[in-house]
Amino acid sequence: FTIGGCLLGALILVLALQFARRTKIRSFDLERGIMAGELKPYYQPVINLRTGKLTGCEVLIRWVKRNGEIVPPGAFIDYAEVSGLAIPMTLSLMEQVRGDLETLCSEVPDFKVSINLFEGHFRDGSVVDDIQSVFGGSGISYRQLVFEITERRPLDDRNAANRVMTAMHKLGVRIAMDDAGTGHSNLAYLQTLGIDIIKIDKIFIDMIKDPSEPVPVVDGLIAMARELDIDIIAEGVETQEQALYLRAKGVVNAQGYLFARPMPLAPFLTLANALKPQ
Ligand code: C2E
Ligand code: CA
Ligand code: CA
Ligand code: CA
Repeated sequence: FTIGGCLLGALILVLALQFARRTKIRSFDLERGIMAGELKPYYQPVINLRTGKLTGCEVLIRWVKRNGEIVPPGAFIDYAEVSGLAIPMTLSLMEQVRGDLETLCSEVPDFKVSINLFEGHFRDGSVVDDIQSVFGGSGISYRQLVFEITERRPLDDRNAANRVMTAMHKLGVRIAMDDAGTGHSNLAYLQTLGIDIIKIDKIFIDMIKDPSEPVPVVDGLIAMARELDIDIIAEGVETQEQALYLRAKGVVNAQGYLFARPMPLAPFLTLANALKPQ
C-alpha cells in the first residue's frame, strides 16, 4: 500500500460513483421525457430532383424539453439503446407520426414516410408486431412506410435478419439501408437481405464539388444500386452543384439542407402542401 495507490483507488471509486449517479439521473430523465411526450418527431422533406416536389419525409427524433431546449438525437440515442428505452421511444414516435401524417398520407397516396429503427428492435423481430399495431388500419398504408436500418453496424445473424425482412415485406413496408457505403454492405449482402432502398451517406455527397467532375465512389454506389434494382435516396445534399450532379446521374430522390432542415410538424405540413405533387 502506497499513499499514491490509495489516492488513485479513491479517485477511481469517486469517478465510478459519479458516473453511476449521472447515468441513473439521465435514465430517469429520458424515461420521464418519453412518458411526458417530450420526444418529438421532426420531419425532413425528401425532394424529387426532377420536379422539385415533395416525395416524402424522414422522421428524425428531437427531445423538446419543457424549458424550450431542443436536444439532438446524438446526445441520447446511444444511451436509449443501452438503457432499454429504445423500443418504447420508437413506439411513442411511431404513434405520433401516425397522428401527425395520417391526413397528408391519405391525401397524397404516393407520399413516403421513412422511420429509423434501432438494431435491437429489428433484430428481435418485435418491430413487425409494433408496425402492425401502430399503422394497421390507419390512414398511412404499409406501402407508404420505409424503415431504415444502418449499415454502420453489421447484422450479425443474417438468418434472423432475413426472417424479419421477409415478415416486413409481407406487410408491404420497404426497407432502406442507411449510411450506405460506410460499413459492411457489398453487392451480395444487400441482395440477400432484400434491401429496397439505399441512402447514400453525406460523407460521399460531400465529395461532389463540381457537377462536371466525376466522383467514382458515388458513381459506384449508384451503379451498384441500379444493378440490384434498388432505389436511391441521396442524403446531406447541401449545394446546387451536388443536386445537379446527382440529377445528371439519374438519382431522383434527395434530402438535405439545400432543400430543408428537419422541422416540427406545423411548418412541415405547410411546406408539404406547397410542394404537393399534382
Ligand atoms: P441519419 O439517419 O443518417 O439522419 C441524417 C442526419 O443528417 C440527421 O441528423 C439530419 O438532420 C442530418 N442532415 C440532413 N440533411 C443534412 C445536410 O444537408 N447537412 C448536414 N450537415 N446534416 C444533414 P440528426 O437529426 O441529428 O440525426 C442523427 C442521427 O440520429 C440519424 O442519422 C440517425 O442515425 C439517428 N436518429 C435520428 N432520429 C432517430 C430515430 O427516431 N430513431 C433512431 N433509431 N435513430 C435516429
Ligand atoms: Ca436515417
Ligand atoms: Ca442516413
Ligand atoms: Ca447518415
